[in-house]
Amino acid sequence: MDFELSDELLALQETVRRIAVDKVAPRAREIDQTGEYPRDLFEVFASAGLLGLCIPEAYGGSGAGILGLTIAIEEVAKYSNTAALMLLLTRLPTGPVMIAGSTEQKEKYLPGIANGTKRAAFGLSEPQAGSDVMGMRTKAVPDPASKGGWILSGTKCWMSGVVQADWYTVFAKTSEVTSRSHDSITAFIVERNSDGLSVGNLDKKMGVRGVDTGELLLDNVRVPKENVIGEVGGFRLAMLGLNSMRPIVAARGIGLAEGALMYATKYVQERQAFQKPISSQQGIQWEIAKLAVEVEAARLLTYRSAWLADQGKFTKEWVPYLSAAKYYATELAVKASSVALQLLGAAGYMEDHLTELYYRDAKQLTIVEGTSQIQLGLIARGVLDRDLWWD
Ligand SMILES: Cc1cc2nc3c(=O)[nH]c(=O)nc-3n(C[C@H](O)[C@H](O)[C@H](O)COP(=O)(O)OP(=O)(O)OC[C@H]3O[C@@H](n4cnc5c(N)ncnc54)[C@H](O)[C@@H]3O)c2cc1C
Repeated sequence: MDFELSDELLALQETVRRIAVDKVAPRAREIDQTGEYPRDLFEVFASAGLLGLCIPEAYGGSGAGILGLTIAIEEVAKYSNTAALMLLLTRLPTGPVMIAGSTEQKEKYLPGIANGTKRAAFGLSEPQAGSDVMGMRTKAVPDPASKGGWILSGTKCWMSGVVQADWYTVFAKTSEVTSRSHDSITAFIVERNSDGLSVGNLDKKMGVRGVDTGELLLDNVRVPKENVIGEVGGFRLAMLGLNSMRPIVAARGIGLAEGALMYATKYVQERQAFQKPISSQQGIQWEIAKLAVEVEAARLLTYRSAWLADQGKFTKEWVPYLSAAKYYATELAVKASSVALQLLGAAGYMEDHLTELYYRDAKQLTIVEGTSQIQLGLIARGVLDRDLWWD
């Protein structure tokens, strides 16, 4: 067993830490207030090669893998979860392509993501089908004018990066929309400039502003045969893609928790009350200590899950380990941001400090890509099936 990061990963961590402090941190508050997409940070990430971390070298990336992306996101999320989301979006829509896409799809769609000339988004959720993925109603029917092609109709919602994307990974029912059979769902690459495709309503969010979230409307959108990802009826691909994303979402949680704890720690060492810094109060110290332990526990879970995912261990038997990282790290983000805000008292509630931003940003993490309740269900299933067992 080796708990050391490789020299390459340590160098990456150092590089991203510097970018996070110098470029991301000064922009965090402004991004939240304006809600504008931080194009400047996207350019910084592109020139530092951070957009291709999870993409293999053969397709223009650096091949740092899920662990590399996890480490980078952790650093960035210490200061801005919006900026961390921009990095996450290099993997969420490309995951199915990397796992099951054809060589032609990889050659066509991955290099643009790695070099920052293209962006993508991921369309699974629908208004009536979030946790209940099988309830989706977006329908794909065979295109009579194109052998093997499909025509997609439906509405996707809450899609992160919907406005900025050049292409979308979209899941649709290729048999009856009422079917709950797993082989009824197929993944497609849908180009932004397709006829019949448009962006619908955008959401007004409590946090993680700056990367738009909203609807993708598909009105008889033609998709060629070449853009089917994997096989028709490959719902399993949706789950494999999401399973392999757990460490990356968890990284947004640990980064946020670390950022909030560091912020509050500096404050309590300066804040005087009862004629001494409040950090000298044992009650305050214990809050810091408890969070520090949980941050380290979450990091271990997250790094291990990233290491597993990089070895292709994101099939059913590894799910409880992957889901445990996502569950624990994102719940910790909510808790740490709340404790940090409390440690600042009134100051923490005001926009003068970042604590209220951490607090608002944290909550989405326990909802996106499988809520905490869904993760608990998956972990419990793993124990009941003996995938997670201790003898
Ligand atoms: C900011 C943001 C960005 C997002 N980005 C994307 C994106 O890019 N692409 C995309 O496809 N989706 C995206 N989503 C959608 C997200 O994946 C869904 O919100 C999530 O899957 C939950 O679905 P839901 O909101 O419909 O909640 P519901 O499924 O309606 O659940 C409501 C509540 O019931 C609980 N619940 C549901 N089923 C069970 C169960 N079986 N057991 C116990 N409890 C249960 C849930 O945990 C939750 O607390 C985003 C959401 C947010 C908030």
